[in-house]
Amino acid sequence: MPNRMLQFVAVPQQTPAKRAADARRADFQEIYDEYLPAQAATQASRCSQCGVPFCQIHCPLANNIPDWLKLAAENRLEEAYELSSATNNFPEICGRICPQDRLCEGNCVIEKGFDSVTIGAVERFITDTAFDQGWVKPARPRRERPESIGVIGAGPGGLAAAEQLRKLGYQVHVYDRHDRVGGLLIYGIPGFKLEKSVVLRRWKLLEDGGVRFHLNCAIGTDITMADLRARHSAVLVATGVYRARDIGGPGAGLPGIVAALDYLTAANRTGLGDTVPAFADGTLDATARRVVVVGGGDTAMDCVRTAIRQGATSVTCLYRRDRANMPGSLREVKNAEEEGVQFQWLAAPEAFLGDTTVTGVRATRMHLGLPDASGRQAVDPLAGSAFTIPADLVIKALGFDPEDLPGAFGEPALKVSRRGTLSIDHRSFMTSLPGVFAAGDIVRGASLVVWAIRDGRDAAASMHAWLQQAATAAPALAPVAA
Ligand SMILES: Cc1cc2nc3c(=O)[nH]c(=O)nc-3n(C[C@H](O)[C@H](O)[C@H](O)COP(=O)(O)OP(=O)(O)OC[C@H]3O[C@@H](n4cnc5c(N)ncnc54)[C@H](O)[C@@H]3O)c2cc1C
Ligand code: SF4
Repeated sequence: MPNRMLQFVAVPQQTPAKRAADARRADFQEIYDEYLPAQAATQASRCSQCGVPFCQIHCPLANNIPDWLKLAAENRLEEAYELSSATNNFPEICGRICPQDRLCEGNCVIEKGFDSVTIGAVERFITDTAFDQGWVKPARPRRERPESIGVIGAGPGGLAAAEQLRKLGYQVHVYDRHDRVGGLLIYGIPGFKLEKSVVLRRWKLLEDGGVRFHLNCAIGTDITMADLRARHSAVLVATGVYRARDIGGPGAGLPGIVAALDYLTAANRTGLGDTVPAFADGTLDATARRVVVVGGGDTAMDCVRTAIRQGATSVTCLYRRDRANMPGSLREVKNAEEEGVQFQWLAAPEAFLGDTTVTGVRATRMHLGLPDASGRQAVDPLAGSAFTIPADLVIKALGFDPEDLPGAFGEPALKVSRRGTLSIDHRSFMTSLPGVFAAGDIVRGASLVVWAIRDGRDAAASMHAWLQQAATAAPALAPVAA
């Protein structure tokens, strides 16, 4: 067979077709089309098959990228799927929403003179094809173990762990305070980045494999942590981070100023067919309103683009640093600009204007100063630079911190870091409570889906090792029969 690889010199990079901005603004469907099979094979063939693949090194899951690209280039898609799913529980989700420009693709060595291989789009294509072809099978163990495991949180961290543990034969019970599975995949990230059907089919697959979901069930409220620990041989905490950072200043309490996740959850629920009173009464609906979003991360980008789709009159993003220092993916900033979002870089709110409801934001220009101890440049206001942006809806998207888990769980012995994230032993993933492990954002702080999957997988492996050890140790500890 002729070598199909190393085609980057002859074949230019081609991302999947992106829908025109005008069409995108009218709905919540994903903005990128799927590759046609021939396109996926051709694009995969651009890989240079490096001896030391930097893409793999910079993928948090250490995905075997060069090998599955080669299989895709040779149209051996079922094998490509087997390989890609061996290291990643949700490759089609990562292919859609990983910030590839900072991870695998950003480290593709052919990028120097040629554009990088479109790794994410090929990864998505492989697994979407596998679903279409019926190659994706539920993780149904041949032999079930007697031990059961409780997982708190049905986000990507909890779900990845649940699938890994189910494969190992454990009885897995996932508890979530929401009514649907997915965590931020279902109620945070909007459909134009990740269509809901992609998340819902994973939910079904896990159920088909025998994972039991207990929804509308908040641990600490509906079931105590002590009860949960008594029910299960081990527990994994994968509860994410949900305490929204707030903004102070004059007028900060005015009606019309809302929290990003409330706004996004309402939009996502409405899209799923739910009736959301705060959306129906206009509180969380941007239709025909002048919207200002404060913040520069993924959440802010999702808010501005949701507001555009809801038919806002204008949408402005206010961010205190510059474009180069945005924490969100630059690809999403570009998409937002194409869709009509105005960016005010180096600008921060000083006060919120209005009597009975917000009518505007008074902002100050900022400038970047010298790097602080963390290496990040300080931001300082420029005297006399205040300006006003009219607004009827202000969305605060300044990031998230952990909730008080020791308090919520009634477990004062549960150790947390200074930031409030759960402290774990980084080799075993165990918290300060014996048999209670933790993974995902609740350990790292707000991070990425791909890292939550990685942590969920690693925590599952550690839980298995711990349970195995406990099982072999148990007979020695059992009382000797008379
Ligand atoms: C708006 C937004 C956009 C994002 N976009 C991207 C992106 O494009 N790409 C990317 O890689 N990352 C993105 N992220 C980050 C990513 O979503 C998170 O890093 C990831 O979801 C963390 O996974 P997790 O499993 O740790 O937690 P989560 O996804 O937060 O899931 C935690 C689950 O635990 C449940 N829970 C919490 N407390 C309890 C309790 N006491 N009892 C029962 N259940 C409980 C919650 O209901 C939730 O379902 C985004 C985040 C936000 C907020
Ligand atoms: S999981 Fe994310 S970082 Fe890894 S190969 Fe896929 S898109 Fe790239």
